[in-house]
Amino acid sequence: MIRLRPALVFAPLLLCGFAFLSAQAGPDSPAFLGYRDFAAEQAKIDQQFLSIPDAKLAGEELKTLTAQPHVAATPEDYKTAEYVASKFKEAGLETSIVPYKAWLNMPKEVSVEAWNADGKLLMKGPVPEHVDGNDSFQNDPRVLPAFNGSSPSGDVTGEVVYANYCRPDDFNKLSGMGIDFRGKIVLCRYGSNFRGVKVYVAEQHGAAGVLIYSDPADDGYYRGDMYPHGPYRPATAVQRGSVQYLFRYPGDALTPGFASRPDVPADKLLKPEQAGNMPKIPSEPLSYHDAAPILEALGGPDAPREWQGALPFTYHVGPGAKVHLVLKMDYQYRTIWDVIGSVDGTTFPDEWVIAGNHRDAWAYGAVDPNSGTAAMLEAVHGVGALLKQGWKPRRRIVFCSWDAEEEGLIGSTEWAEDHASQLAHAVAYFNTDVGVSGPNFEAAAVPSLKEFVRDIAKQVPSPKGGSVYDVWKRSQAEQASRQKGPVEEHSAGTNAAIGNDVRVGDLGSGSDYTPFIQHLGVPSTDVGSGGPYGVYHSVFDNFAWFVMNADPTFVYEQEMARVFGLEVINMADADVLPYDYVTYGKEIAAYLDAAQKKGQQAGLLGLDFASAEQATQRFITLSEQVRQKQQHLDDDSTASLASLNIQLRQVEGDFLSAAGLPNRPWFKHTIYAPGEYTGYAAVVIPGVNEAIDAKDLSRAQEQMKVLTDAINRADGTLEAIAK
Ligand SMILES: [Zn+2]
Repeated sequence: MIRLRPALVFAPLLLCGFAFLSAQAGPDSPAFLGYRDFAAEQAKIDQQFLSIPDAKLAGEELKTLTAQPHVAATPEDYKTAEYVASKFKEAGLETSIVPYKAWLNMPKEVSVEAWNADGKLLMKGPVPEHVDGNDSFQNDPRVLPAFNGSSPSGDVTGEVVYANYCRPDDFNKLSGMGIDFRGKIVLCRYGSNFRGVKVYVAEQHGAAGVLIYSDPADDGYYRGDMYPHGPYRPATAVQRGSVQYLFRYPGDALTPGFASRPDVPADKLLKPEQAGNMPKIPSEPLSYHDAAPILEALGGPDAPREWQGALPFTYHVGPGAKVHLVLKMDYQYRTIWDVIGSVDGTTFPDEWVIAGNHRDAWAYGAVDPNSGTAAMLEAVHGVGALLKQGWKPRRRIVFCSWDAEEEGLIGSTEWAEDHASQLAHAVAYFNTDVGVSGPNFEAAAVPSLKEFVRDIAKQVPSPKGGSVYDVWKRSQAEQASRQKGPVEEHSAGTNAAIGNDVRVGDLGSGSDYTPFIQHLGVPSTDVGSGGPYGVYHSVFDNFAWFVMNADPTFVYEQEMARVFGLEVINMADADVLPYDYVTYGKEIAAYLDAAQKKGQQAGLLGLDFASAEQATQRFITLSEQVRQKQQHLDDDSTASLASLNIQLRQVEGDFLSAAGLPNRPWFKHTIYAPGEYTGYAAVVIPGVNEAIDAKDLSRAQEQMKVLTDAINRADGTLEAIAK
């Protein structure tokens, strides 16, 4: 029989710091789905695992990984691949360095010059990133000048328009003020959306080029002390980044939907000008040191009040400044390297459990991504210790160190496309990217794994005392009370639907879970530990900054290694896959509710939600029956567990539609996608919601049918399980 997992009551007091755990158990403790014999077996394995990840070692690993800048496809990047591979092998994983090709740009020449209306030179840059003080990382000649991945080369001159965050609404507001963007250079500030979306919207409005700068209001002195006196962005620090249209498709621009293996025939590649995920206009990131003189020179109407940042003058939208932007990019089909380490499963060998983190960085990448890599290496260390003691996972475990995430999730996307048939029955993908930038645990997950993430967090001790879950819950409550209201939802108001437990976010995009969940339907989670972090994608995201601001003693590295590794081993060993479809159903119901209200406001009165709602109600009812079955099996033979698990996994697969989303067929999931106009943030039931946003009734009806069909397919699977 499948027994409920009485949360943590078994945790032995072997390890110092674990005494708090027994306080977790009680009548309110949620049942942990998935184990028939947790007490005897899994608790012991979990405790053995938790004792291994080591703070000091994580610190040493982080120092090694970040000793040199290691942009994807460089010799220094390959060195980090070899280092990670050696750690995987040391742990006993079957390890290989797997190359793919990617159409990548590196800057040959970057120049920005600006003049005021009288022709007086305002700035000539960009200036190198520099702070006074003893940051020993900043003068390394191997650090590339700041640039945008996927930007074309260009030589453009134009009047500057300030467009705030460059959201569609910002452009609409400016259009309403009579501003014509054709031939202009649009000055955007970072924040609110993905930088690729800023360029995408500017391109649609006919702009000639885009400059994106970091305003001190968003991550600089307005927030707190600047590095090297604190964690925030100093004047010359630039946020590099990809402007790939990853909401169209991520990965190598020339091979959408299939893997860019080194032997891919040239006639299968798109021509660069055919690539659907590359901007047509040049763009360049700037520090506020370089952007301020341009912005200050702008005349014309005052910017709307909420567009004012923290620079010490009143912002205007322009005209008043002219910019000459020259970008010479060296585009080549370059080799990148994923590192893949696996161990076979004994009982369910075809059900892969995958865990990944990217390794490449825009410069040193102490926080992004190598705090995650160090945590992954310590998780691998823990798994290795279990293997050496004779433990064998019941499912195949695959650890992945991705390359070229920064340029557009390339290493993960190519590998996922390469293994699409095996991944059709992979049971989970666990991601961490920014593993640690501070002490605040954060998680996002597909709804079926939100409960799983909370349960894992309950098992891991926090350096602050209590469990990670306790501290997480407290900090969310404090945040909510500071905001004098419930925590804002990014998506539809789902808290109401799922009760008052800790909020686990929805998966949008901007990291390597995207190909797994949104292209292939592999249930996914993303975890990390956050804090004040103003040096994102700059040269100052380095080991010195990390030790000063994020995690001086690496105890949060240890915490993340424990969370990440425990996700893997618990999923690998679960008898019954611990998917919570009740929550999934309730979330879909909440998304439909919110979409219906939005549709009415948009005047799409003919849009009929009834069939989708009925299918969802049925989903909820059936998933309650399925949950009973997950907890109380009549037949727990391996054969019967195997067929149950295949069906449970099928439910997520049922949410994929073969045709994908309108105009972006690579995105196949009907419940989650990155927003076409948000980029990072999730758009829920994207086909329907984006059609409503476009006020396109016939597309909305069509997409409603696609969604309803998907939910009905899932209902069919749930019904077969419940029988
Ligand atoms: Zn990253």
